[in-house]
Amino acid sequence: MIRQRAFTKEHSMLKGGLHCHTTRSDGRGTPEEVERLHARHGYDFLALTDHNFYNYADYAPETGLLIIPGMEIDAVIDSNLGLCFHSVCIGPARENGNGFAQDQRPEHPHVKTWQEFQTRLDQVHAAKNLTLYCHPDWSRTPARSFENFQGNFAMEIWNTGCVMDNDMDKDAYAWDEVLLDGHKIFGAATDDGHAMDQHCGGYVMVNAEKHLDDVLRALSQGAFYSSTGPEIYDFYIDGDRAVVECSPCQFVNFINGTRPNRLVRTTGGLVTRAEITLPDETRYLRATMVDVEGHRAWTNPIFLDERG
Ligand SMILES: [Zn+2]
Ligand SMILES: [Zn+2]
Repeated sequence: MIRQRAFTKEHSMLKGGLHCHTTRSDGRGTPEEVERLHARHGYDFLALTDHNFYNYADYAPETGLLIIPGMEIDAVIDSNLGLCFHSVCIGPARENGNGFAQDQRPEHPHVKTWQEFQTRLDQVHAAKNLTLYCHPDWSRTPARSFENFQGNFAMEIWNTGCVMDNDMDKDAYAWDEVLLDGHKIFGAATDDGHAMDQHCGGYVMVNAEKHLDDVLRALSQGAFYSSTGPEIYDFYIDGDRAVVECSPCQFVNFINGTRPNRLVRTTGGLVTRAEITLPDETRYLRATMVDVEGHRAWTNPIFLDERG
C-alpha cells in the first residue's frame, strides 16, 4: 500500500499560491490588494514572487495569510535551448538560515547553457530556498532544455497568466517526458498573476500545519496536489489497484506515462471515486480530473519504486 503524501490526513489541507506579482515588479495590484484578494478566495498562504526582488513582508497582516518568503529569478537564454529560464524561489525565515535579505535584487545575466542557470539555482539552494521551474511552455523550453536541472522540487503544470494571455502552460506540459526520463519532480498549479483577474485561478492544496517551515517541508516532499477547482480527497495504490477519490467530476484520468488509460466515467452521473488495475509497466502513476465546469486538478505522482 502506498498513499500519495498529500492524503495521509496528518494535517488539514492548506490552500496556497506559490507565484504572483505585485507593483513591487510588473504586477498591477499593490501587495496589499493582492494579499486581500487571496484572503477573500480562502487562501491560507501566499508567496509574493516579484521578479528578482526578494520579499518576506506581510503587507496586509489583518488577513491572516501566511506569507512565504520568495521571489522569481530569470535569465534570457542566448542559444537554441529556448527563450528564457524562470524559477520561483521560496524559503524559510531570515533567522532560520534564509540567505536572502528583504528587497535583495540578485543579478540576472544572460545564459547560454542550462549549466549556467544551474549555478544560479545552486546559489538559491545554498540560501536554503526551494525552487519551482516556471512556465516551460511560455519559456519555449522543451523538456531536454530543463529536465537536467538539479534541485527543483517542482515544475509548473498550470500557469493562469500564461493560459489567459497565451493559451500555454495549461496541462502538465512536458511533465510526463521529464518523469519518464527518471526525474522525480512534483507538479504545481500557479497563477503568475500580473493583472488582477489572473489571480486565484490555480493553486496548491498542502497537507501541512499553518507554519512556514511545515509548509516548505510538505511542498518539498510532494505532500500536496494542484487544482483550478476540483478537490481531491485520496490517491493510493493497494496491490495492483489504484484508487482516487475527489469532488464530483466528469471524468478521472490515470496517467502512467506509457499506454494511455481509458478515462474513468460513470454512466448518468459524476465520478467521485475511480479505480483501475495498475498497468504492468507502471513506474509512476498520477491522476487528473475535470469537473463539469471544465476545471482541472492534478495529483502528484506515486513513484512505484517507493512502494513499501
Ligand atoms: Zn516567469
Ligand atoms: Zn512570474
